[in-house]
Amino acid sequence: MSNAVVDQVSKQLFIGGQWVDAQDSATFEVLDPATGAVLCEVADASPADARKALDAAVAAQAEFAATTPRQRADILTRAFELLMERQDELAELMTREMGKPFAEAQGEIAYAAEFFRHFAGEAVRIDGGYATAPAGGARFLLTKQPVGPCLLITPWNFPMAMGTRKLGPAIAAGCTSVVKPAHQTPLSMLALMEVLKEAGLPDGAANCVTTTHSGATMEPLIRSGLARKLSFTGSTKIGKILLEQCADKVLRTSMELGGNAPFLVFEDADLDEAVAGAMLAKMRNMGEACTAANRIYVHSSVIDEFGRKLAEKMGALRLGHGMDEGTKVGPLIDDAAQEKVGALVQDAVSRGATVLTGGSAPQGDGYFFTPTVLTGVPQEAEIVREEIFGPVAPLTPFDTEDEAVAKANDTEFGLIAYVFTNDLRRGLRVAERIESGMIGLNQGVVSNPAAPFGGVKESGLGREGGHVGIDEFLELKYVG
Ligand code: NAP
Repeated sequence: MSNAVVDQVSKQLFIGGQWVDAQDSATFEVLDPATGAVLCEVADASPADARKALDAAVAAQAEFAATTPRQRADILTRAFELLMERQDELAELMTREMGKPFAEAQGEIAYAAEFFRHFAGEAVRIDGGYATAPAGGARFLLTKQPVGPCLLITPWNFPMAMGTRKLGPAIAAGCTSVVKPAHQTPLSMLALMEVLKEAGLPDGAANCVTTTHSGATMEPLIRSGLARKLSFTGSTKIGKILLEQCADKVLRTSMELGGNAPFLVFEDADLDEAVAGAMLAKMRNMGEACTAANRIYVHSSVIDEFGRKLAEKMGALRLGHGMDEGTKVGPLIDDAAQEKVGALVQDAVSRGATVLTGGSAPQGDGYFFTPTVLTGVPQEAEIVREEIFGPVAPLTPFDTEDEAVAKANDTEFGLIAYVFTNDLRRGLRVAERIESGMIGLNQGVVSNPAAPFGGVKESGLGREGGHVGIDEFLELKYVG
């Protein structure tokens, strides 16, 4: 298989606008999860390298903050165009390091680019205020200023979009940053740095460190007092550790954490639409999405029919390398993910669940898992309590609306929920009662750069995207 797109991308650290080796020229391997083969090696940053990246961001901050909104908007617009011009090669790069089917990777590049286009618009609309004090005699002048140098940490599951969702508003607001991608998928972020450099981003305004020492490199930066904000997307477990570290210097934080999305199908739903929605909500990214339908609650009068239709569609999906034509499901990210999904299925079966299709990992290379539908899954099964992050749909029956809502809310997470019903009043009522930051009402996907994305409870703090996304990178100053 050709490695041209992998060969072309820089494998070094991006610091102060320059490509540099890590200290002692340390590197680590990047694997193709579909085969387990080594794709390439990239620079493995030490804490000293990461500190250089933060120093570069700090040095560039004042000048970058002084650029005009129009200049920053133009850089983002050019970066949007470059991403779209290179959509296919960037998609292939992503497929090779992350595993998702090429068509899905193309979709992610377009989605990622859209954050730049969206925030190019927001950059020139940063507003303020001028008001009279209630008792008169004074005026309030309100203005927004960039927060300052930011630390951006991203996960492997959407290697490009999670980067642009943070870099877009950071650049629009006039904040410099150090970005650290996940060690499994550094190549997409490195390619993004190339795009930003070519789009005219000033040296030091965005820096990138790839590393296998996430904790050791990032904690000193968080505690340095030089960064003013941490924006993190990843697991709730790591998010909690980082929040504690941020408390030390009272850093601003944005936390996009784990999910455990309930997917509710009421007896009055259009079942074919609900199945189509479940396929999207479950199978986008092989189920490796924070928004993935994790628990599917179906009214007991329709659960058998729904299960049969869903199993038929899941069973027909073709597994394979993401670059092979016809592949609908790629591999999971690594062997640990494959083992975890298998263990969750086993636990559900041992508690009485029935396998309608799939149920295990196929023979052969790569970290694949066969698309699986389980029915009769009890609420106490681990698969209902934990984020599956794999192509497994657990079905559980309910009888009343109150029971469905109670089950949906029976979790410490609150990122997104899906509700399928043809009764609009019920749809809105249930949407209001479910504790989550987002609701898909008769929709299997709701992510849109122009809408605020984020969760409640242990799914996170703050919102990315939408008009409000830029405010996460701005401080409001009151001049009296
Ligand atoms: P993860 O293990 O929490 O890692 C996320 C990022 O944090 C990676 O870059 C990781 O780098 C880094 N990291 C790990 N330990 C760290 C530490 N001690 N200090 C600093 N950085 C550290 O999560 P993941 O497995 O990559 O991603 C899956 C999770 O992300 C799921 O829970 C998913 O729900 C969540 N997610 C949430 C959203 C959202 O918008 N809410 C979107 C996508 C994903 P290394 O792995 O290289 O160490």
